[in-house]
Amino acid sequence: MSSPNPTFLNLIILGPPGAGKGTQAALLVSAFKIPHISTGEIMRQAVSSSSELGSRVKSYLDSGELVPDQLVIEVVKDRLSRDDCSKGFLLDGFPRTVDQAVALDIILKDMKRELSHIIELDVSESVLLDRIRKRGENGSGRSDDSLEIAANRLQVYWRQTAPVTAYYKESGRVLTINGLGSVEEVQERIKNAISYK
Ligand code: AMP
Repeated sequence: MSSPNPTFLNLIILGPPGAGKGTQAALLVSAFKIPHISTGEIMRQAVSSSSELGSRVKSYLDSGELVPDQLVIEVVKDRLSRDDCSKGFLLDGFPRTVDQAVALDIILKDMKRELSHIIELDVSESVLLDRIRKRGENGSGRSDDSLEIAANRLQVYWRQTAPVTAYYKESGRVLTINGLGSVEEVQERIKNAISYK
């Protein structure tokens, strides 16, 4: 799928918690020089700076549940309207529900933009549980990283977020990338799939 203006690179990275989205996203944005829009990061920063948004979302983050759609859609709409997104962006952690995906379609249509590529990182559930367990043991400092909450995040993913991939797949817009292997191997697969060298 190509975007109307080839200089735009409007990307989404999808995949369950523990699939390596954040790591791959960080490498992609530095290669493509586009902003990394991680809704989880925006929410965590809001909580740590005790902003009004932070006070509204803290309990959701602490439990691993999803923040209400309307709140996160407003955050993304505002973020995408900033100047640094004019040449593209990479959305990481959004959309997380089909309603968010539908809202994103409308936001992009209003901006006369469309998604260039939807990248899905594919990792089996047993590998994910293992990675989450290790992340919990190493204590990455995130308040939502206890084992129980991490397992809940995975359940929330299968229930609410897996349908987003199905939504995009209906229109044949998803590049499914094998998420197993080294960080570099996975990055190479993504770049090959989107024909960027
Ligand atoms: P993440 O770092 O992407 O795993 O997000 C951490 C937490 O932020 C999630 O467990 C949710 O509570 C919240 N969050 C991040 N993105 C979204 C989203 N698109 N919709 C709802 N909640 C979100």
